[in-house]
Amino acid sequence: LVAHLRPFGTTSFASMSALAAEKGAINLGQGFPDTDGPTEVLEAAVRAIRAGHNQYPPGRGIAALREAIAEHQRHWYGLSYDPATQVLVTAGATEALTAAILALCDTGDEVVVLEPTYDSYTAAIAMARAVPRPVRLRHPSDTEPGYRLDEADLRAAISDRTRLLLINTPHNPTGHVLGPAELDAVARVAVEHDLLVITDEVYEHLAFGGAPYVPLATLPGMAERTVQISSAGKTFSTTGWKIGWVCSTPELVTAVTTAKQFLTYVSGGPFQWAIAEGLALPDERFAAMAPALADQRDILVPGLVAAGMTVHPTEGTYFVTADVAPLGYDDAVDFCWRLPDLRGVVAVPSSVFYSDPAGARSLVRFAFCKRPALLAEAAERLATLG
Ligand code: PMP
Ligand code: GLN
Repeated sequence: LVAHLRPFGTTSFASMSALAAEKGAINLGQGFPDTDGPTEVLEAAVRAIRAGHNQYPPGRGIAALREAIAEHQRHWYGLSYDPATQVLVTAGATEALTAAILALCDTGDEVVVLEPTYDSYTAAIAMARAVPRPVRLRHPSDTEPGYRLDEADLRAAISDRTRLLLINTPHNPTGHVLGPAELDAVARVAVEHDLLVITDEVYEHLAFGGAPYVPLATLPGMAERTVQISSAGKTFSTTGWKIGWVCSTPELVTAVTTAKQFLTYVSGGPFQWAIAEGLALPDERFAAMAPALADQRDILVPGLVAAGMTVHPTEGTYFVTADVAPLGYDDAVDFCWRLPDLRGVVAVPSSVFYSDPAGARSLVRFAFCKRPALLAEAAERLATLG
């Protein structure tokens, strides 16, 4: 393996899922739901296979899906993208992110990322021979749990080699949803320094705030410099289908397509037909997703609190972060490897999301995208840990 990929080994999500299977433990590690998404969407995939949509789809994705993505952007956010030139279908958000980074970064360019950082960003940046510049999300105060992006920290990460800002909201692993002031700060810095911004919005329908989620591209001056990325995996609980997309200017979409066509060329033919139908489901179906997930969160979190963990509030995604230091554990990696034997539960040590693992010594990420009965069982097991 080449030196610049050696630090990446096996992803901890894969290792933790393997551990859960080996120990027969409840898997609150890797983020995937344990129930299927909307029946209509599943049936649409079966129909597409039977209808013979089983060969290579067009390079940028089938027209019906590109149109559905553009319509979804218009309907939910008032964003206008031409499906012919401004939408690209990818093999999940992962390929979209990697293709965008490969297409836009030269050797030595710097990419500013939020830390904790979703694991594939750092690997994709390494593949492009670019350099990550993490901006640590801070706790609101020394005593207040939670996360926020500080404008001064963002500014301090910019240099004359900065090429991209890569923003993720709702944010994995913290569950932080960037608020208006934080989005304004990102936009201000991007415009002032003439930077492109990649936004990873795979949890766009899974923000718990009640108010509609706000994409950065809706801010003044941002649409022309934002590469907006999302995925059907989380919205429709179809993480194995790997249907993602990119929306941006025609020039940027063409650039990303150039890299994308030599990564996978195309993927997921019949699933593209199904997601086109899914994106056209009635608004109520989308609106019901976050409250259902928030209820799942509220089943798990009391178990963590009862155990004595410090639980950081989560405003979206599948995840909640908890500090296990109050339980006497100062090393979350060791804690997570012991947890299956201690309580039959698997979680992910947050250090995998930090450039300096010391930044997250005792932090653990738990996934709550699981059936209520399973979460209740996990909460009961964990409650007695302390
Ligand atoms: N970005 C974030 C923040 C994620 O959490 C994930 C996966 N859960 C992805 C990207 C990858 O999405 P996909 O499965 O569509 O490749
Ligand atoms: N995004 C999921 C998580 O954070 C996992 C996806 C993966 O394993 N690559 O758990």
